[in-house]
Amino acid sequence: RVLDLLHRVKYEQDGSLTFRRSCAHGVCGSDAMLINGRNRLACKLRIEQLGKRRITVAPLPGLPVIKDLVVDMDGFFDKFKSVQPYLVTESPAPERERLQSAEEHARYEDTTKCILCAACYSECNSLAADPEFVGPAAFAWGYRFAADERDGQRKNRAKLYSGDHGVWDCTRCMYCNERCPKGVDPRDAIEKLGGIAFNEGVSWADAGARHAKAFLISMRTG
Ligand code: SF4
Repeated sequence: RVLDLLHRVKYEQDGSLTFRRSCAHGVCGSDAMLINGRNRLACKLRIEQLGKRRITVAPLPGLPVIKDLVVDMDGFFDKFKSVQPYLVTESPAPERERLQSAEEHARYEDTTKCILCAACYSECNSLAADPEFVGPAAFAWGYRFAADERDGQRKNRAKLYSGDHGVWDCTRCMYCNERCPKGVDPRDAIEKLGGIAFNEGVSWADAGARHAKAFLISMRTG
């Protein structure tokens, strides 16, 4: 794996080489980096998959570099926190736990696989145009809770995610779906958040929402 090569460089050639890694099995999300021009997890990528003798590694693009392959993730995590990535219940606490059906869980299951590696965020085209754009990973988490029937904040979440730098600013380039190593499909989550915003009637002020609504009317009438 590319991570093994990095270890060999660090242990045998240059101990100053700096990169993050922890679990080394695609779970912690700490070793995302640009490998041969594309964001990937170094621990998941086997050398034979690259099919080249020459391998280039670089820090995640678009994020401030601290040293070598280590980038500053503070902005990424600030945006993650801004979407309220946790369940907010309104009903009294049950005696044991808040149950949900397998069908309800299936609605957002893909988004629960996110490991916060920032591979999607780093190559997000909307973010390149607007550094304040909240970004695909945070919105995937937003959808995870907006779609959860046990959460009592769906309308508030729809307002929170539909404002400036919100879901309607996504350029729909699909890079996040392509880059995600865990199959989260953040763009799909953003699209579904747009649907929730429509259903909750909170998004008409935004040009992106009006554009989508015009398409819907056009499809229904034409
Ligand atoms: Fe990484 Fe995928 Fe989560 Fe983005 S959505 S942070 S690419 S696991």
